Amino acid sequence: MIVLVLNCGSSSIKYQLFDMPEQKVLSKGLVERIGEVGAALEHQYEDQTHRLEGEILNHEEGIALILETLISPENGVLKNINEIKAVGHRVVHGGEAFTGSVVIDENVIRSIEEVADLAPLHNPPNLTGIRAAMHELPGVPQIACFDTAFHTTIPQVAYMYALPYELYEKFGIRRYGFHGTSHRWVARRAAEMLGKGKYDINCITCHLGNGSSIAAVKDGKSVDTSMGLTPLEGVVMGTRSGDIDPAILFYLADKGYSIADLNKLCNKQSGVLGLSGSSNDMRTLSEKAEAGDERARLALDVFSYRIKKYIGTYTAVLGRLDAVVFTGGIGENAADIRAAICGDLDQIGIGLDPALNASVSGEAKISSDSSRVAVLVIPTNEEAAIAVDTYQMSQA
Ligand code: ADP
Repeated sequence: MIVLVLNCGSSSIKYQLFDMPEQKVLSKGLVERIGEVGAALEHQYEDQTHRLEGEILNHEEGIALILETLISPENGVLKNINEIKAVGHRVVHGGEAFTGSVVIDENVIRSIEEVADLAPLHNPPNLTGIRAAMHELPGVPQIACFDTAFHTTIPQVAYMYALPYELYEKFGIRRYGFHGTSHRWVARRAAEMLGKGKYDINCITCHLGNGSSIAAVKDGKSVDTSMGLTPLEGVVMGTRSGDIDPAILFYLADKGYSIADLNKLCNKQSGVLGLSGSSNDMRTLSEKAEAGDERARLALDVFSYRIKKYIGTYTAVLGRLDAVVFTGGIGENAADIRAAICGDLDQIGIGLDPALNASVSGEAKISSDSSRVAVLVIPTNEEAAIAVDTYQMSQA
């Protein structure tokens, strides 16, 4: 069964076409700069890449172009568009309403609209993509998979902010958490690797990419996570500050910073970019630090230190800890960062095998034989997770 997975951003659409249930990727690609100059489609199939530049005015045109390309005699992988039997959409914010993936209908669309002001940069383009796909593929089941869904098991004690309770009731201000599709995928895989049932594992999952978050998973369910109302909270990221004293913002407001300035400062100019003053890319920062750049070293140290703190906190939350899992571009590839995070954690039963850590590629256990807690590297695959949900929901 052919399943199309779509991830629609404000000016881009990422897609992957799967043959299910084998999870075989037939094609993947990206439409970028929608509605701007230099709009383009990059389409990969077999070992080839096909690039097409031209006007792509909106998401509907973008999706139409993707579908056209998927069936094109030259670069296509399908004979007929009717072969696509279901479409899975990544939706960033599901609020409290969605505890799992759902088949999209008018009620679901209304609910996604209702929480859109909690994710103003993400939910509106997600919805535009859903509407465009429904228009282009009428009658094909469309499934929404929410970044927040896995975290809806977080108990109230962990999701409440100590602000006046009315703000939760009036505006829904609470911790929601993100990257749920990734945390769930690697937690399930970790359970399999350790020979445990999926509701049998206690682990801390570290999704470290441009955006990073940590989750505490107890009995296979998320019980706490570092991102909050928005993806700004938690660990240090590429350009986001993560946790700061909120009074810093009042202080800067007094110095003349506007709300827009502060938003930009915390989301786009902070994190390892802000600390290093040079890059948000971990590879670049590692090279610079090696070459003696002290600010790059500081950025890497603060990044790792904050994650170590979360691991300590979540170890206390979980009681029994079976595994720490690293995933995302940094978690999967940066051995030096993993080593810095896991260094001196023998007190809580975490010890790396330096050789395994340095040589890992793909999925692996990198803890030492004496480590009580397994340390695992597990590549994330959010698209495959969405394809699996989409396949299962459209069969039901
Ligand atoms: P996104 O959150 O945008 O999906 P990724 O998960 O792709 O991001 O992660 C991007 C980050 O991963 C970048 O900071 C990049 O430097 C880092 N990264 C990718 N490959 C490596 C590598 N081989 N070594 C160190 N860092 C890496």
